[in-house]
Amino acid sequence: MRYVIIGNCIAAAGAVEGIRSADQKGEITIIDGEKRGCYTRPLISYLLAGSKPSSLLYYRPEEFFAQQQARVIAGRAVRIDPAEGQVVLEDGRSVDYDRLLLATGASPVIPGLPGIEQPWVKTLYTWKDAEEIEALIEAGGTAVVLGSGLIGIKAAEALHQRNMKVVIVEKQEQILPRLLSPWSATAATRHLEEQGIQVLTGREAMSITEQHQVELDNGVKIPAQLVIVAVGTRPNQALARDAGLETGQGIIVNRHLQTSNPNIWAAGDVIETRNILSGTAEVMALLPLAHLEGYLAGCNMAGKSANYPGGIFLNAVHFMGMHIIAAGDPNSSGTVLNWQEGQSSLELTIDGEYLVRYISINIPGITGPLTAITEKQMKIAAGEWQEFIKQPSIANLPAAYLAETRRWEDDGSLRCG
Ligand SMILES: Cc1cc2nc3c(=O)[nH]c(=O)nc-3n(C[C@H](O)[C@H](O)[C@H](O)COP(=O)(O)OP(=O)(O)OC[C@H]3O[C@@H](n4cnc5c(N)ncnc54)[C@H](O)[C@@H]3O)c2cc1C
Repeated sequence: MRYVIIGNCIAAAGAVEGIRSADQKGEITIIDGEKRGCYTRPLISYLLAGSKPSSLLYYRPEEFFAQQQARVIAGRAVRIDPAEGQVVLEDGRSVDYDRLLLATGASPVIPGLPGIEQPWVKTLYTWKDAEEIEALIEAGGTAVVLGSGLIGIKAAEALHQRNMKVVIVEKQEQILPRLLSPWSATAATRHLEEQGIQVLTGREAMSITEQHQVELDNGVKIPAQLVIVAVGTRPNQALARDAGLETGQGIIVNRHLQTSNPNIWAAGDVIETRNILSGTAEVMALLPLAHLEGYLAGCNMAGKSANYPGGIFLNAVHFMGMHIIAAGDPNSSGTVLNWQEGQSSLELTIDGEYLVRYISINIPGITGPLTAITEKQMKIAAGEWQEFIKQPSIANLPAAYLAETRRWEDDGSLRCG
């Protein structure tokens, strides 16, 4: 069996493990478009900050692929020919497959702003991006970060650590709009400002001038040595679309992560997947999901029958000493319960008997149980949450959760081996 994987990052690494769990002999070829090996994308901001050496960036080192007898080809795939079972590379080479995985991830969205092509306007998405930004860092200079999602915040933190003045410009009225509620975003904004980062919400960049300025919608011009564009990402699904596969916001897959072509699977940031809580198909660009999807797709490519139920939005972000963990559906509605003490806070959204979202800031310990309750959609009476929120702690977890975990122990769900 000839397995080919396009992309060499998180989903690809998972897929190699999945394939080898069922097939020790098949030929695995990985097409590495970035030509940088399999690295942990979220760590590039730490590389930029100077707090992680490049040697620690690898998600799976070269030896891993050698041990798994997987051949890595440096090159970009430009076309898939499903009828011939062939992938064509940019340099004209071609690779034949029996089973193909698309693990092509996503790319940053580049807004059509005048001046966006200036060489000092960058994205922070790849290892190469981090190296290019490195060359533009001027201690004491100003960096403007467009967008305050996870990548924008991590870029701001890194540049601040490199002694640049940082201004974040966010079009929406709050920072981290996909992760935080307006209430919790207020605390996060205050924290950034206390560390010396300027945050402008409800403001939009209109142009970037040759004179090193970012012009905002209110006419204010911010001088900038460096601009980081972090306004969102989009799945790399052109190859799939051109090959006639079904696509939507991302590549459409079934529960086996198989595309509309039975010999082609897809996994990671490039696919639409089921949001367990809302039941809708969404692009959920999260590292743990990318690995799991890759693994399950690999199992299925090698003949197993593994179902992927979908996932929930779950993210842990740490910046400048603030620890945020949030899970659940960002679009959820329900009764909101809040708790705050000093720099710590918790927000729960309860819909009937279900916890549909939580946002915790600087609270160690309780997020594991809260994630389990959210993900497994455990029924817990609203009154129990009213009690819990008075003093959130492990000791105060709802009795219904504790009863459920005892049931897992009794029925063997938690047994080792
Ligand atoms: C700065 C930053 C911080 C992040 N922080 C977090 C976090 O805290 N938590 C979290 O869960 N996620 C985080 N993410 C997202 C996380 O990195 C992604 O979810 C994960 O990398 C997805 O893995 P993937 O394998 O699907 O795709 P990718 O990592 O995008 O890899 C896809 C690879 O395929 C290659 N490729 C694309 N097209 C082709 C082609 N035609 N031929 C060959 N190769 C091709 C791409 O160049 C790329 O190397 C962060 C991302 C960034 C950039």
